[in-house]
Order: sequence, then structure tokens, then C-alpha cells
Amino acid sequence: MKGLTIGKIMLAFLPAFLLMPLIAALQIGLDQNQVKTIIIDPGHGGIDPGANIAGFLEKDINLAVAVELRTVLEDAGLHVVLSREQDTDLSDQCNNPQIKGRQRRDLAARLGLVEEVGADIFISIHANADPKPERRGIHTFYAPKSEAGKKLADYIHGELQKVTVADNRAYPGDYWVLKANKVPAVIVEVGYITNTEERFLLQTTDHRKIIAEAIARGARRFFAESTLI
Ligand SMILES: [Zn+2]
Repeated sequence: MKGLTIGKIMLAFLPAFLLMPLIAALQIGLDQNQVKTIIIDPGHGGIDPGANIAGFLEKDINLAVAVELRTVLEDAGLHVVLSREQDTDLSDQCNNPQIKGRQRRDLAARLGLVEEVGADIFISIHANADPKPERRGIHTFYAPKSEAGKKLADYIHGELQKVTVADNRAYPGDYWVLKANKVPAVIVEVGYITNTEERFLLQTTDHRKIIAEAIARGARRFFAESTLI
């Protein structure tokens, strides 16, 4: 206690200009730690509609949710890059001739963005379809061997569970875009377009906003609380 008091007195008498460089250095450190870059990846696009029921296309809902998510994250001061902003696939943006096939090249281009923009995390947005129309709810997936990916998925899914119908937990998923990703990555399947109620909800801005805000809260908690990044 005594030492602390003496320390406080000494600090009070230190000329302010001596503290300036220290404060500036701390500020830079904080800025570097705080401004994270997030890739939001609306699945499919262009000639690839994803799931499709009666003219309602997964690629459109993915993009609409992604745009909403970008707004929420940017409002929170985060740096956001969308893998696509239009109704296009990305296969022609893949610059590796070794990778064959439109779908693979499309995914490779999305993965390539991670290094290109120095992303910290990757969030892919998809919507689900199932022959059983009663199936509904959000699923969140992470790469099976990624501890950080699981952490990110757990935070995001935990927030989604609080606000909407969602699986009992996040699950490992055998997806290339997750397994080949160099940063913690998740796929959020935002609902079933084959379920009448969810299809209706996903067409409303309010519901998309609820989902986007929950995903954003999860991502921010990951940055704030995880020691894995
Ligand atoms: Zn999909």
C-alpha cells in the first residue's frame, strides 16, 4: 500500500512530456489489437444459385444476410471485406491454374482473399435445404481440427441460440473452405429455405438483422475473450 502511494506521488510529479511517448506507443498497440479484419463470404453466386425452392435462391439470401452483417460489424468499428458484393461466382478470380473445376476455383478465390486482405477471421454465410419441410434452425460449422475455429463457432452459435431457432451447439464440418482456411473460419447456415416459416423470415430485413447482430456479437466476443488470436 505504502509503495503504491509513493508510486502515485512520483507519477504525479513526472513531467507530462515524459509520458507522451509511452501513451502514444500504448495507443498504437491498442489500435493494432483492436482493428480486426473480417471476411464475410456470401456462399454461391452467379451461375451457382445454391439451394433453390420455387424461385427462392440461396445465393440471394446469403448476400442479403452478409450485407446486413457488414453494416453491423462496420458500425462496431471492425474492418470488413465481402468476398462478393454482386450476384457473381468467383471462379475467374482464382489465379492458380493448378486448381480445376468451376466450383473448386470459386472456393479457392474466396480462400485466397484471406492472405490478400490479411483477414483475422472468415465467416461464410449459407442457407439450408432439406426434403423434410419441417426441418428448421441455424447450424454453425467449424473445421474439425481447428481449436480457434471451434471457439469462434461456439461464440457465434451461442449468440444465435439466444435470439432464434438454432441447433443445440456448433458442429465440426467437413468443408474445404473451413479445413483449408488459414484463419479461424465458420460456416453459418442461417436457416432452411425449404421450411415455410424460415423462408418467410429470411425474406424480412428484421430477421436478417437479428441474425447479423448475433453473429457480430459472437465475433466480437471471440476477439475480446479468446487468447487464440
Ligand atoms: Zn450453400
